[in-house]
Amino acid sequence: MIDLINKLEKNRTLTLEEYERLIVNRNEEYARILAKKALKAKRGVYGNSVFIRGLIEISNYCKNNCIYCGIRRSNKVCERYRLTKEQILSCCDEGYPLGFRTFVLQGGEDPYFTDERICEIVAEIKSRYPDCAVTLSLGERSRESYQKMFDSGADRYLLRHETADKEHYEKLHPSDLSFNNRMECLQTLKEIGFQTGCGFMVGSPYQTARTLAKDLKFVEQFKPQMCGIGPFIPHRETPFAAEKAGSVELTCYLLSIVRLISPGILLPSTTALGTADPIGREKGILSGANVVMPNLSPASVKGKYELYNNKLTGGAEAAENKAELERRMESIGCRIVTDRGDFKK
Ligand code: SAM
Repeated sequence: MIDLINKLEKNRTLTLEEYERLIVNRNEEYARILAKKALKAKRGVYGNSVFIRGLIEISNYCKNNCIYCGIRRSNKVCERYRLTKEQILSCCDEGYPLGFRTFVLQGGEDPYFTDERICEIVAEIKSRYPDCAVTLSLGERSRESYQKMFDSGADRYLLRHETADKEHYEKLHPSDLSFNNRMECLQTLKEIGFQTGCGFMVGSPYQTARTLAKDLKFVEQFKPQMCGIGPFIPHRETPFAAEKAGSVELTCYLLSIVRLISPGILLPSTTALGTADPIGREKGILSGANVVMPNLSPASVKGKYELYNNKLTGGAEAAENKAELERRMESIGCRIVTDRGDFKK
């Protein structure tokens, strides 16, 4: 194991079988060693900076029916909302003086948000705040749509691949969603020039060490600028309601491995990690993550974007409580910076 860890640190690559071994044979000691090396790699590129992103959840309408997701279209109990352009812009107006220099517009796949509507919003944010980056996370769209959004000024796009194993993908999604299309969307986003983020849930039903090894291999080969990794957490109104949640320990272990694969990657310590463990955010940062995404959505809709049970909305999770987040990050030797926080090679 120590040889494998050293090899990963040196070469930034392992075989599929080696990744699998690294996962299967993990223990606390190896996790500590990996985290130490991951922190060293992160410091080499970003020092002790932690980047913040203001997350604006623009709509919880979704035409898709992903089996794990709380805002899937079959969830009839979910109270649906969508933000107006004015509401989205006032989130940015609130976030800018707090120090946010990246706004992330995330939502379900809501046909109301046509290319025209999204492009208008992106262009207005960029004109008000030219020193800010705009990240979109709006699911699968056509090449033309992605191109228009890029041309209107969007800088980054997050589209988790969810799992790099086709069979596993098909167990997590209904048959109208395709693994190949998701992967093609990611390629397209990269070709267009977006800083592109992939990512996956940890502990999703039917996941194995082998499928996780494929996720790591995919991250290594795709070379995304960002990667979102968080534990799967069940949602009571989904077919996976009775499934077990993913572990914080394995999520952190994988964060360390991904940091060693790509020292410059932008790696969030996710809300799901903070939901699964009161100090999950800190654990993620101490494993190699360097981004946190506090919620800038208006108070009236907070809580309605419930992807999984008990998703955090208050405390350090809320953008207005940035001081608390700052204190918590300082307590682990990190510093929140007012910066777009672009990818560094
Ligand atoms: N619709 C867009 C898309 O598909 O990329 C963005 C929104 S989607 C809800 C954002 C992410 O939430 C998904 O990529 C998925 O990994 C995560 N997610 C959904 N349900 C989850 C759950 N039960 N536990 C943990 N993460 C979940």
